Amino acid sequence: MAKNNFVKNNFSEKYRVEEGNKFQLKDWETSSGEKIDEDEAEDQLKEIVEQISDLQNILYADNKWSLLLIFQAMDAAGKDSTIKNILSGVNPQGCEVYAFGRPSVEELGHDFLWRTTKCLPQRGNIGVFNRSYYEETLVARVHPELLKAQCLPNNLVTENIWEERFEDICAFEKHMARSGTKVLKFFLHLSPEEQKARFLERIDNPKKNWKFDKNDLYERTFWKRYMHAYEETIQHTACKHAPWYVIPADNKAYARLAVADAVLSTLKDLDLKYPSLSDEIIVSLKSFKGILDKEEQDIYKI
Ligand code: ATP
Ligand code: MG
Repeated sequence: MAKNNFVKNNFSEKYRVEEGNKFQLKDWETSSGEKIDEDEAEDQLKEIVEQISDLQNILYADNKWSLLLIFQAMDAAGKDSTIKNILSGVNPQGCEVYAFGRPSVEELGHDFLWRTTKCLPQRGNIGVFNRSYYEETLVARVHPELLKAQCLPNNLVTENIWEERFEDICAFEKHMARSGTKVLKFFLHLSPEEQKARFLERIDNPKKNWKFDKNDLYERTFWKRYMHAYEETIQHTACKHAPWYVIPADNKAYARLAVADAVLSTLKDLDLKYPSLSDEIIVSLKSFKGILDKEEQDIYKI
């Protein structure tokens, strides 16, 4: 019997936010409160990933819908390893993964949706954004100097700028929904205590030293401002066609299962089918078989 009893079909539903107006971060835990059997969690993740992989094959063959998975979080929340784990076993040909760091000069010379728009998944694919245009209402809000570096005309930078960006993002996500892209947004919700433990592990464990970035310690001092920015962002941009999932991220195994479950449920809801052949081709299938049976044997000789 499964030891992780919380793993039921669509258990991630309780982390989904479709309506932001009453959203308050203080109501959301960073820990699931569940006792996790790590081995069991790994087996269960494998099962879910296998199902995701099967459905991704059909998504690709069907070539109508696409899926965009957006990951946002504080440093060391486990974005990278979650992406790696939930997409392991999925055909790489149908996946597009992009990480967005500080914008280049060329990117700063365009509107804030430009660089990510170029990276949207094509039909039939699963796209992943490791950070995204949401940084524009998060890090850019926490650090006003970043907004200044965007060289916007002065009279466009008013106290309404965040509201305006929320509006633009909502309109953009509606456009994606209307074009056949299912958008899921994951906030891996980590506690400052767990982040500290992960930073210490990066310092102490030689195999993790390379992940340590002293700038992460500086960003950590802005924790409250970041949480305020996340709260307002989710309040203004959570909607039915592009929901946020606020995933308790203090336990990585649990977070991965929850994300994988949300992806699987979304793919299942699409009710995907392999494209069917035309009646004309179906009628002719036997004769095509005959052609293969009777073909010259020469082609097997080198
Ligand atoms: P980890 O969780 O392992 O630290 P990461 O996603 O933080 O990974 P990094 O390369 O360390 O990856 O950092 C990317 C940095 O780029 C982040 O600090 C992020 O806030 C910043 N960034 C992303 N988009 C923007 C943006 N539009 N404007 C300014 N900074 C941005
Ligand atoms: Mg970082």
